[in-house]
Amino acid sequence: MEFAWNEAEEAYRAELREVIATLPGDWWDAYAPHGPSSPRLMEHARTFNARLAARDLIVRHWPREYGGQDASAWQQIIISEEMWSIGEPRSSLYLGANWAGPAIMKFGTAAQKQKWLRAIAGGELLWCQGFSEPEAGTDLSNMKTRAEPVEGGYLVNGSKIWTSYAARADVMFLLARVGGKGKGGVSCFLVPMDTHGIEVRPIPGVHSRWDFHEVFFTDAFLPADALLGEEAGGWTIVQTIIHYERIGAGRYEKARRGLDHVVGRLKERGVWDDPVVRADCAAALALVEAARLQTYLVIDGRAKDSDPGAETYLARFAMIQADHAVANLSSAYLPDLLVDGADGHLRSQFNSAITAGIAAGAAEVQLNMISGRHLGLPRGA
Ligand SMILES: Cc1cc2nc3c(=O)[nH]c(=O)nc-3n(C[C@H](O)[C@H](O)[C@H](O)COP(=O)(O)OP(=O)(O)OC[C@H]3O[C@@H](n4cnc5c(N)ncnc54)[C@H](O)[C@@H]3O)c2cc1C
Repeated sequence: MEFAWNEAEEAYRAELREVIATLPGDWWDAYAPHGPSSPRLMEHARTFNARLAARDLIVRHWPREYGGQDASAWQQIIISEEMWSIGEPRSSLYLGANWAGPAIMKFGTAAQKQKWLRAIAGGELLWCQGFSEPEAGTDLSNMKTRAEPVEGGYLVNGSKIWTSYAARADVMFLLARVGGKGKGGVSCFLVPMDTHGIEVRPIPGVHSRWDFHEVFFTDAFLPADALLGEEAGGWTIVQTIIHYERIGAGRYEKARRGLDHVVGRLKERGVWDDPVVRADCAAALALVEAARLQTYLVIDGRAKDSDPGAETYLARFAMIQADHAVANLSSAYLPDLLVDGADGHLRSQFNSAITAGIAAGAAEVQLNMISGRHLGLPRGA
């Protein structure tokens, strides 16, 4: 087995780093600490994404006909590592590149592929994800937002909550119910955010003032071609998306670079010789590298076109543990550096770790999936 990156992969990473080198000098302090949904980062992302697109760097792993270069799935994890580890300067372009795009590729009509995939590859779109509702987070199938069929399309009524990026995104990947109960009736829509009848209200969060939103739909008309896949066939699409979404962000790499930064700070403060500090850092390093290997296992399957399995949930849970372990070091040994303006790099890692066990599926839910699908334990055991 070959564990090293090949020449093309190394060259791709080097190209990405050339574009990363164009980020503003005060990136860590002024842009990154409040996450990829902060207004300043989102605004900058439009310039940054155009630079990536100009060098065809965004979706190298996609087929050429959709704007890619037929590269392997490994190149997708390379861009995720490089971007997420520095606070995701693409902002929510990554939602399109990681999972909305693949969903459109698999379930979209020819016209939808033409319209959306080129725009993602061209770095033109910032996305948001309209899944969660007040009574439908973990239990997503309990969603109530309705899309009522009318002449020429659908009228959407209802609301979404915790929607990241919504205030500044161009398009939402929306789940709404066209009749039915539970998983039946759930349908997927691609919705421009300037659609009449959509109202976005921010919800300040502990990790970021700008991340969360409520999104209200009041008789918002969507044309028939906004529907992705079959009417009421959205649950199959959701199942596909989840595998891409859960490990789409290179969280272990952000944790790793965060850990290196923590160690640098501890050395500066002269506490690195303390055996307890070293043991804690070593334990965090073990968790970070375990998460990396679990993720690579999933990517290896993807590169070989295997069906996704329970490994995704193992990788996701491992990433959560890695994120938490590094954030715990910051709060235990360097709490004074976590205040605004003290150390943007540390703050950025800490803030994303706060939400790691909830966003993209709660940690306990990953454990449920692992117990059932990986270990084969009976439900409720
Ligand atoms: C930073 C962040 C960004 C987000 N961005 C988006 C977004 O862009 N779009 C979007 O649609 N949503 C988004 N969410 C929402 C997120 O998907 C939900 O918070 C998540 O699915 C959990 O749902 P909930 O908040 O309703 O909590 P609940 O489902 O009510 O869960 C609350 C607690 O109960 C536990 N629990 C629930 N059911 C079970 C079970 N069956 N077994 C064991 N434990 C259980 C959970 O683990 C959790 O600890 C975001 C959340 C965060 C934190």
